[in-house]
Order: sequence, then C-alpha cells, then structure tokens
Amino acid sequence: LTSGLESAWKKLKGEEVLTKENIVEPMRDIRRALLEADVSLPVVRRFVQAVSDQAVGVGLIRGVKPDQQLVKIVNEELVKLMGGEVSELVFAKSGPTVILLAGLQGVGKTTVSAKLAYYLKKQGKSCMLVAGDVYRPAAIDQLVILGEQVDVPVYTEGTEVKPSEIARQGLTEAKKKKVDVVIVDTAGRLQIDKGMMDELKDVKRVLNPTEVLLVVDAMTGQEAAALVTTFNIEIGITGAILTKLDGDSRGGAALSVKEVSGKPIKLVGRGERMEDLEPFYPDRMAGRILGMGDVLSFVEKAQEVMQQEDAEELQKKIMSAKFDFNDFLKQTRSVARMGSMTRVLGMIPGMGKVTPAQVREAEKSLKIMEGMIEAMTPEEREKPELLAESPIRRKRIAQDSGKTEQQVSQLVAQLFQMRVRMKNLMGVMEGGSIPALSN
Ligand code: GDP
Ligand code: MG
Repeated sequence: LTSGLESAWKKLKGEEVLTKENIVEPMRDIRRALLEADVSLPVVRRFVQAVSDQAVGVGLIRGVKPDQQLVKIVNEELVKLMGGEVSELVFAKSGPTVILLAGLQGVGKTTVSAKLAYYLKKQGKSCMLVAGDVYRPAAIDQLVILGEQVDVPVYTEGTEVKPSEIARQGLTEAKKKKVDVVIVDTAGRLQIDKGMMDELKDVKRVLNPTEVLLVVDAMTGQEAAALVTTFNIEIGITGAILTKLDGDSRGGAALSVKEVSGKPIKLVGRGERMEDLEPFYPDRMAGRILGMGDVLSFVEKAQEVMQQEDAEELQKKIMSAKFDFNDFLKQTRSVARMGSMTRVLGMIPGMGKVTPAQVREAEKSLKIMEGMIEAMTPEEREKPELLAESPIRRKRIAQDSGKTEQQVSQLVAQLFQMRVRMKNLMGVMEGGSIPALSN
C-alpha cells in the first residue's frame, strides 16, 4: 500500500493547489494502492469519492504543499473510515459482563480469549473463560493451558455437551463465583456455514452477551467485508478484534470492518504472547497504512521501560533527525528489555514485515552493534559524521570491538539511513541524504 501511495504523492510535486484535474492521477494511484491492499471494491469507491470531494473543496492553506494536503486528507478519511475514535469495551451495569467470541477457524479466537482475560485482569477485573469449542478435545486443552498461563479459571464440560448448554452452565457458575467478566470461546469453521451460525445463535440466545466480538485475521483481506457483513446480519456483532497484525498483512481487513457493518474494531492482536493485545487506534492504523510507521505506539511502548523524559527526548530526536549512537544504544537496550522484538520492529517505519527467524537474526545483530557502539568515544557517539569521515576511526572501532571494518561501516550507514527515514517520516515528503563513507 505504501509504495502505491508514495507515487500518488509524487505526482503532486510542483503543483500549487489541489484541483479537480491534478488529483485525478494521484487518486487513481490511491485507488490502486487500496485495491492492492485487499480493501473491498465498494469500500474503495466510497473512500476515493470522499477524499476527492474533500480535496477539491479545500482552500489553499499557506505553507502547506498540495501533496502534504492530500496526505492529510487521506489520513483523516482513513481515520474516519476506521471509526475515528478508540472504541472501548462495554461492561454490563449489573451482573457479569459476557463477551462472546466468534469467527472462522484458526483466526485466533482461543488465543484472544486468554489474551482478553489477561488484558482485563490487568485492569482489575476478575474473569472466567468458558470452553465452547466442543469439536476437538485439543481445543479445550489449548484453552485450559492458556487459562493456566494467565491464571484465570476455565469452565469446561468436555466434548459431549452442546455448546449452548456449556454456555448456560458456565454463566451460572460465573454468577455464583461473582466474576466480573465471562469470556466464551467458540468453535470456528473454515468457511461460514449454517451449522456454525445456528450454533452461535443458540449460544448467543442463552448468554444474552454484552459484547459479541467477531475475531478477524488481519490477513483476510477482501473477504473480510463479506465475512463481517454475514456475521453481523446472522448473529449481530458489537465489534471486532483484528488479530495477527504483527504478520505480513496488507491492512485491507482493517479498512472494511466499520464501513460494512457500522461496528468498530475494538482490539488488535499483535503477536502470540498473552500481552500482545491492545486497543485499536484508528489514527495510528491510518499512519501505519500511509507508511509513516507507528511512531506513537513505539514511543508509548518505549515509555513502559524508559523514563518518561527519556521517551520524550527520543521522540524529539526522532522528529529532528538528530538520532545518534547514544539513542541507538539506549533504544536497542530497552528493546531487549521489552522482550518481543517483533512488535517493536514492526513499528519502526520501513520495517513492516518481520518473521521469527528475522527476529532472532535482529537480536543477534543488535548484540554485534552494541559491541561496536561501546567501542566508540563519547564524541563519536554523538557525532556519527566523525565516523563517516574517518576510516581510521572506523578501523580503531573494528579492532577494539573485534569486528570487521565492513561491519563498522555498515553500522554507520545504518544510522544515517534511520535518520533519513525518520526525517522523511516527519516531513512527509522532504528527502534527506545519506553521506557516502570516505575511504
Ligand atoms: P482459533 O481456531 O480461532 O481458536 O485460533 P487459535 O487461537 O487457535 O489461533 C490459531 C493460531 O494463530 C495459533 O497458532 C496462534 O498462536 C496464532 N495467533 C493467534 N493470534 C495471533 C496474533 O495476533 N499474531 C500471531 N502471529 N499469531 C497469532
Ligand atoms: Mg479455537
């Protein structure tokens, strides 16, 4: 999606204002980019129309270039398309809050059940999980194991009892135990079929749930629109949870959910660990889609491990592209402390797709980088230019850290690339330059 959009912006370079004529080409690129990102056609049509109307109607803002203006409008429309604001979970006024999870097989329902229990527990709510997938004993075991992991009780009845009956008994049990939230996991099928829908309807009738959340795999793409529509019409959903956002997803599903159902995405799953569940922020998702990376999420995550002022400092440096080796080191160290590299790497602009093997590789190369940075003088860390200019310095660092000169050169080049990326990110359009290392 990002590269398609970039060509859209480029076409407006040199233009003074946005007109009906000069947005035709960029809009075509945007349309193509959205379709390539697997957004469904009707959604794309409405989106492009909305952006065009906005763009031509808008007056010239002094100091803002037309391409930037178009980025801004696209961004705003994307945010709107995804629901605008964060949509919080709704809790029952009295008695337990019941959350029913539905969705196709393998999308991450069982994982989400446990993640959600963990997420709510952190907010001080007591939870209970109900194993409603009776078709495979393994599915029940999976929930029991995850329940143990997050220390939340799991109500099971084995595979002989009907899901609606399990739901009824689970709910009774939850009321008796006075838990705050009951999360009901259900069985999925590979495709939508009547059996699954009927079963879900039965379960829903019994539970009268506060939330019916459709779990959608972010990789679903185009079909997400039809899927969400069908579930919403058949059983009635209150929102969706988008999973596997850490993977190689093109974002199409995220854009379709709200538009076709009127129901918001409430939470996103970004990994297999129990802590990898967070609220869905339409503005950040829009930024990510536009290729600006998820700087806000990144800074927020960093805040959990860094001092507040450190994080602000980092944000300032990212903005002003003064990011030096000290920041690099500080960041890599806190990244190590953050545990999962996957998420963090995914948030850095230009580093969208990360596999577990790449993560291990990245962790290894972080160690190597650390060694080299430690061999730098304080001055060199603050002024990477010194290293770009002086092969002698690079040679010394290579010797002191036991690495090759080539590895040192690579590290220096990498820092400058990062600076440029960050600068691009903030100036949206301005290009930066990467100095050639002198020999
Ligand atoms: P269910 O059939 O809908 O219950 O799906 P599961 O919860 O069993 O998940 C299917 C697979 O997807 C499992 O291997 C999970 O570990 C994995 N999974 C679930 N959520 C995520 C996520 O957010 N990111 C990644 N990378 N994997 C996930
Ligand atoms: Mg399951």
